Amino acid sequence: MLYLSTRGHPDRKKFCEILLEGLAPDGGLYLPESYPQVDAATLEKWRGLPYHELAFEILSLYIDDIPADDLRAICRKTYTEQVFGTQEIVPLRPLEDGVFLEGLSNGPTLAFKDMAMQLLGNLFEYELARRGAELNILGATSGDTGSAAEYAMKGKKGVRVFMTSPHGRMSPFQQAQMFSLQDANIHNLAIEGVFDDCQDIVKAVSNDLDFKRKYRIGTVNSINWARLVAQVVYYFAGYFQAGARKVSFTVPSGNFGNICAGHVARSMGLPIEQLVLATNENDVLDEFFRTGVYRVRAAADTHETSSPSMDISKASNFERFVFDLLGRDGARVKSLFGEQLTRTGRFDLGDDPAFRTARERYGFVSGKSTHADRLATIRDTHQRFGVTIDTHTADGLKVAREHLSPGTPMIVLETALPIKFAATIVEALGHEPERPARFEGIEQLPKRVTVLPADAAQVKQFIAAHCA
Ligand SMILES: *Cc1c(COP(=O)(O)O)cnc(C)c1O
Repeated sequence: MLYLSTRGHPDRKKFCEILLEGLAPDGGLYLPESYPQVDAATLEKWRGLPYHELAFEILSLYIDDIPADDLRAICRKTYTEQVFGTQEIVPLRPLEDGVFLEGLSNGPTLAFKDMAMQLLGNLFEYELARRGAELNILGATSGDTGSAAEYAMKGKKGVRVFMTSPHGRMSPFQQAQMFSLQDANIHNLAIEGVFDDCQDIVKAVSNDLDFKRKYRIGTVNSINWARLVAQVVYYFAGYFQAGARKVSFTVPSGNFGNICAGHVARSMGLPIEQLVLATNENDVLDEFFRTGVYRVRAAADTHETSSPSMDISKASNFERFVFDLLGRDGARVKSLFGEQLTRTGRFDLGDDPAFRTARERYGFVSGKSTHADRLATIRDTHQRFGVTIDTHTADGLKVAREHLSPGTPMIVLETALPIKFAATIVEALGHEPERPARFEGIEQLPKRVTVLPADAAQVKQFIAAHCA
């Protein structure tokens, strides 16, 4: 299997080459040259496999530069009951008739990002050892991504993590999750500023090519193909557990990484009727699927909401879907995302026949949820089913209910556990959500964090001093 760039660059690469890279050299995102097809007989064969074996079967269609036995061992070591809490790894729970929650957030940091990041940690360790190389991961986080990355990379040989976050702006639970890690290869940098300042610092450091090369700076953001392909697995696992001929999925969405994996699963032949994209007040993607207009928002027009992991101004993975939608025309994607978006901040596919048939060909529909919807959905789900859901999952469930079709089970992806967003749960229900026993008292643990001003030069100094 070879990988190409969504912007038409002529190079083709193997999986392990793109594993440690971010963007393609032309600024595009990597995708496989084609999607391997899975027929009905193969689906039957896979039904009932333990999650780690299913993961191996799917990943091995995309990865041919890691020996099969090694890849199998990596999958087995990653997806264990010990790390993800249940034997199913992604257990399906029924709510009302025909609606299910698929639990993707029982990993170490209680959000779905663990599903992919835990695999990435093991793949990085494997590939770096094979090359005799090292990698220093530099990132910016407002919560979920940073903690998932740290819990995936802690104690891994050949990897260090330098994670910037806005000082004092994450929830106490999220701060405790990250800052209580005592592993020598994990460095928390609390930046005196907002999330955008952290992102600017990461950009400034990455743009210093000499520094980047000398200190082998890399990233783990959601455009990494390995993260995306790991997520494809739970669409298959959800389908098998529902036990129907065809299913639909609703996905609480921000950067389009999670639902893009659903698009890949559907393109491989998994019988998915609809892929329902749910946004919060930051409705860039809902606007696109309703109108064909993709309009990135300015920082000032990006709302701070009670489902903060979906507070995005643009969707970094969206280019992958547009590439497929436009018949894999790299030159056109390059002009849309390269020139046009930079110049005007928007493009409009509303009159394009490709867009007008997107719903039929790709199954995409969308909807939006607000703070009031979130509270009402959390309250209603608690009252009727005795189930407490988190704010992002509530956005999903609200929109899912607008797209039910009789006879087709609707699987809503649960992207976090409610304890991560306790303040809104208290607002909705009047009491704290349940806290898994292993998180009792984490706010009181000793913290390992360095506070720095919003200054790229000082972050560089810190990295240089800790890369001995
Ligand atoms: C990251 C995240 C999302 C959004 O996922 P994307 O892949 O960016 O679309 C939704 N919910 C939670 C809890 C998250 O952490």
